[in-house]
Amino acid sequence: MLEIKNLSFRYASRSPLVLDGVDLTLKDGEIGILLGKNGSGKTTLFKTILGIRKPDGGSIRFDGEDLLKMSRRERARRIAYVPQSIHFGALSVFDTVLMGRVSYFGYKAGREDEAAVEAILRDMRLEELAARNVEELSGGERQKIAIARALAQEPRLLVFDEPTGNLDIANEQLILSEARRVAAEKGIGILTSLHDLNQALDLGGRFFFMKEGKIRFAGGPEIVNESVIREIYDAEVRVLDIEGKKIVINRNGGQKT
Ligand code: ADP
Repeated sequence: MLEIKNLSFRYASRSPLVLDGVDLTLKDGEIGILLGKNGSGKTTLFKTILGIRKPDGGSIRFDGEDLLKMSRRERARRIAYVPQSIHFGALSVFDTVLMGRVSYFGYKAGREDEAAVEAILRDMRLEELAARNVEELSGGERQKIAIARALAQEPRLLVFDEPTGNLDIANEQLILSEARRVAAEKGIGILTSLHDLNQALDLGGRFFFMKEGKIRFAGGPEIVNESVIREIYDAEVRVLDIEGKKIVINRNGGQKT
């Protein structure tokens, strides 16, 4: 579905490369997790995929088509961005999600757009919140509505930048399980960055470890080990295997966050 080849980008002509030969592929319904220190280039990579920044070299193809040549509307029907939080002012949940369909309806929503929103709210068990003002809701609920709005775009790929950054542990689990469900049930690809390695291991999928604008290691959970983490984060951790599940802890015994 998504095929990125040898992508490079710098913010200014004389500044260093922030993306330096990035290769990344993701299949339908696959979950890809970008990991790496702050400043390693994760957000910049998302920006090039979302068309906010134009790469200096390389290619991004979506089902074989050149994503970099697509109009914003064409891209929006393939890829939706899920922000950490939505601030649309005093809109209802229903209208916020309806906004996700703007690339379909142009300037005025039709009956089929409303039906699509109703179906998504039902599916995500958000119907009871439909008439509520988004601003009154909790962080976890707002994030869920951000996912609903992205789904209203009927994309093939959802892009999340640190989706659990502002959430407590219960809402973290809620959002990660929602992402997993969307990928498994709808075959929608997920590309997300995460800070917490245990969250990433919990979510599962393909791991892309970035450092200084390069993807240094890519593969399934089996690639997560102490030397990879040392290389990527300059951090000393232990990776334990508990009942077949990997857990990353600090060398001093505390759970790595
Ligand atoms: P990450 O998401 O992994 O934290 P970013 O993609 O945000 O990394 O940043 C990668 C590098 O690009 C960093 O060195 C950062 O300082 C730089 N950078 C990010 N945004 C800008 C910008 N708008 N202008 C110039 N440099 C930027």
